[in-house]
Amino acid sequence: MSESWSPSSWKAKPVAQGVAYPDEQKLSKVLSKISTLPPLVTPSEIERLRYQLGLVQRNEAFLLHAGDCAESFDACTHENISSKIGLILSFSLILIWGARLPVVRIGRIAGQYAKPRSSNVERVGDREVLSFRGDNVNGLDHNDRTPDPERLLSAYFHSTTTLNHVRSLLTSGFASLHHPSDWSLNHVRSPSLRHEFETIVEGLSDALDFSRTIGVDSSASYERGGGRGTVGEVDFYTSHEGLMLDYEEALTREFAIPTSVVAADSRPPSTTTRPDDPQKPTQKAFYNTSAHFLWIGDRTRQLTGAHVEYFRGIRNPIGIKVGPSMANDELVRLLDIVNPDKESGRITLISRYGAGKIDNHLAGHIGSVQKSGHPVVWICDPMHGNTQTSSSGLKTRHFGTIINELIACLRIHTECGSRLGGVSLEFTGELNDEGFSVTECVGGSMELSEEELGLRYQSFCDPRLNFEQSLDVAFLVSNHFKQ
Ligand code: PEP
Ligand code: MN
Repeated sequence: MSESWSPSSWKAKPVAQGVAYPDEQKLSKVLSKISTLPPLVTPSEIERLRYQLGLVQRNEAFLLHAGDCAESFDACTHENISSKIGLILSFSLILIWGARLPVVRIGRIAGQYAKPRSSNVERVGDREVLSFRGDNVNGLDHNDRTPDPERLLSAYFHSTTTLNHVRSLLTSGFASLHHPSDWSLNHVRSPSLRHEFETIVEGLSDALDFSRTIGVDSSASYERGGGRGTVGEVDFYTSHEGLMLDYEEALTREFAIPTSVVAADSRPPSTTTRPDDPQKPTQKAFYNTSAHFLWIGDRTRQLTGAHVEYFRGIRNPIGIKVGPSMANDELVRLLDIVNPDKESGRITLISRYGAGKIDNHLAGHIGSVQKSGHPVVWICDPMHGNTQTSSSGLKTRHFGTIINELIACLRIHTECGSRLGGVSLEFTGELNDEGFSVTECVGGSMELSEEELGLRYQSFCDPRLNFEQSLDVAFLVSNHFKQ
């Protein structure tokens, strides 16, 4: 790394999507408070995810990255959290069954509050107000758009509460294959979808019972890096877009790299620490402890910008959104900056071109990365390049278009001698009081029409696939890898 890095070195660079706080003193006070609060996640969990992403890169596991476009403080309830986890578990089971590979699950959860915007302001009637930037910045209500630093503190506590609930759900039997109905499958109305899913659950339960009977621990090699791994408990990781760098900096802490990881690394561990270069295999590193995995959005990935500067110095595995405006050589230069030692498991590229554009860009990007020798995981986000406005004015995405991008992505990877390692989706298992799923994306096996969008449109950000539409996607991917 050429220039020295510190958790605050990003401040010397231009900050895209920056927030102007009217009260800087209040901001400093909040940030110093956050910097004293405990980490949300631990270095050993982060290292385990790095290791598992290395497996994805070597085609030994599949990555599911999914959740809301944006979480809200009001949606931090037992019902919402458990339905999201339930959907992620159901989706991953379908993949495990079809692809016969372990699935690494990363939720867009427990901190996914901030949103980048295409414009700083929004017109409301005859006045102009600041755009909504996410619950950790300002309010959705037009009269509550002044950025308030206290919201960062509230984001910390809502993230902590969410993560606490996720951890308790996963360690108290919720993830057990013996109670998949807890994952809110009850409301799936399509009998064939329901039947298909139940067949998989029965098959997997039998297989697990059999393994237990003969004393095989099938998860042993997948779980290297320590930690859980017992049948019936699952690994689950958290993520968010690393947009609000003040907040990320306050939760960036220096730790010794867990010794089991250093010892298991193929390289001999270095005994000299290089504080100016935290990416090198030294014994200490800076971890972002607000989430296991963070990603750089398509609007904040400028090579000389503040976000890339911050991301290059943290030890966490990171994602980078790759859209149509990314040039081939720019992508390689970005990888050189954030992963100079070409470490496996560190970088996940999340492609999001749009169904109409993927053919123009993906093959070039794959080819340049292959030539550069950078080890990356490629995953497909078929959501963000395919957003449209419906005739009624609601933001939507067509299921068919989402599938088209996904199928094209699978095909292009095969044509390029590469492999799609996973998917990144915006979905929700949320139900209304009568047990109906949301109506935000058009199509799918439930054939949702544009006229039906208004029925239960609950997203305050991008439109999400509902429970049934998500399972449709899971079966498509699962069937692809079965062949
Ligand atoms: C997102 O993932 O919610 C997002 C804003 O994506 P992108 O940066 O790819 O537009
Ligand atoms: Mn989104």
